[in-house]
Amino acid sequence: MKLTIIGTGYVGLVTGTCFAEVGHTVICVDNDEAKVKMLQGGGIPIYEPGLEEMVKRNVSAGRLNFTSSTAEGVQKSDVIFIAVPTPPLPDGGVDLSFIERVARDIAGAMTGYKIVVDKSTVPVKTGEKVAETIKRYCKARVEFDVVSNPEFLREGFAVDDLMKPDRVVIGVGSQRPVASMKAVYEPFKAPIIVTDINSAELIKHAANSFLALKISYINAVSVICEATGANVQEVANGMGMDERIGRRFLNAGIGFGGSCFPKDLSAFIAISQSLGYNFGLLKEVQKINAQQMERFLKKITDTLWVLKDKKIGVLGLAFKQNTDDVRMSPAIELCQRLQKEGASLRVHDPKGMDKAKSLLKNVEYVEDMNAVAEGCDALVVATEWDEFKKLDLERARKALTHPIMFDGRNLFDPEEMEKLGWIYKSVGR
Ligand code: NAD
Repeated sequence: MKLTIIGTGYVGLVTGTCFAEVGHTVICVDNDEAKVKMLQGGGIPIYEPGLEEMVKRNVSAGRLNFTSSTAEGVQKSDVIFIAVPTPPLPDGGVDLSFIERVARDIAGAMTGYKIVVDKSTVPVKTGEKVAETIKRYCKARVEFDVVSNPEFLREGFAVDDLMKPDRVVIGVGSQRPVASMKAVYEPFKAPIIVTDINSAELIKHAANSFLALKISYINAVSVICEATGANVQEVANGMGMDERIGRRFLNAGIGFGGSCFPKDLSAFIAISQSLGYNFGLLKEVQKINAQQMERFLKKITDTLWVLKDKKIGVLGLAFKQNTDDVRMSPAIELCQRLQKEGASLRVHDPKGMDKAKSLLKNVEYVEDMNAVAEGCDALVVATEWDEFKKLDLERARKALTHPIMFDGRNLFDPEEMEKLGWIYKSVGR
């Protein structure tokens, strides 16, 4: 099939590439000319495991193309996916101006029947607005259908998630686009749920809010563990073996962040409020998440006391492992808070340092994770990168003025660390 993706970011680029990989002809559109030029020249603007080779393979095969012209993308394809940002507004609602802009651009370029698919995460009822907008701005009287097809990929595992999705959700207002949408996804051999547009939009917000809730739940449990000497990892393992619960998203730490959970949670709360429902449960999820960061900072100041003139080594800047994405990263927030207290920082992230540089200034960026501890008063683990587990603990211990580690991601074993001579503080253990 001929497919166009408007918005070539974490979602759009990976989706477009995976569509090309299964044989569709794909045009990826972005209004960021520099990004398009980079992609046309063989560069990849984001880090995702496995993505680079897949992009190259599909570009060479002629199935994947990049342009900054929405009109070209609309005219050359039958199905147009929207994957532009839906950032948060100061009041917790969603800035839908990118979606509205694209809806107008699509309308202006349509000359025949098109299926317009929203893949961005949007509040329930956005599909209706997109349809109204296209109808209003369409020059000719052409037919179209709007479809909601929320994306569930996880950054860091995006290629795998797209190639082997747990499920594909297709929200439609009529039967006409169903066969085409099924044909788009047929090669992925995943269960397909066909539903109405409002339900599809709600599935995404309800799912992400539930995952955030699961994290806040175990973080709240971690507080009780600390108060009683219990071990939150043991508790999570015991809970997680119950298949009704599951072990994933039960890792206590410094809280969730990233470009999705915080914004989707506040968006769901805001849309519920506007529909007359006070979603107090989700407000508590936000509160617990914020408290978790405060609690971790308190652990640091309880031990180091005054942070002014102290040097702290920080491992991790990305909002989670396997990605270079630092947007709304708790690790960045933690660094900024430590700086505010007067600490100077030496930081390392395997992939996130370049992108962190615009957000985190006046720190020493260290290329080698084993060199971060040099001359520092303590070491902090802020992101759960697997490779941090291979840190040269002996070298780090000797490089620190005092062998203190605050592990915000529970990567190391407390007993082992004590045996190795560390003053080791983690979360809920
Ligand atoms: P992103 O910022 O990485 O990418 C968006 C891209 O859209 C950018 O390259 C931007 O230049 C481009 N763009 C903006 N306006 C445009 C326009 N008018 N025309 C063409 N291009 C335009 O964002 P993302 O992380 O890919 O997220 C996109 C959407 O997908 C959001 O709604 C997000 O909530 C949702 N989502 C994200 C993830 C994730 O893990 N990142 C997962 C699922 C869903």
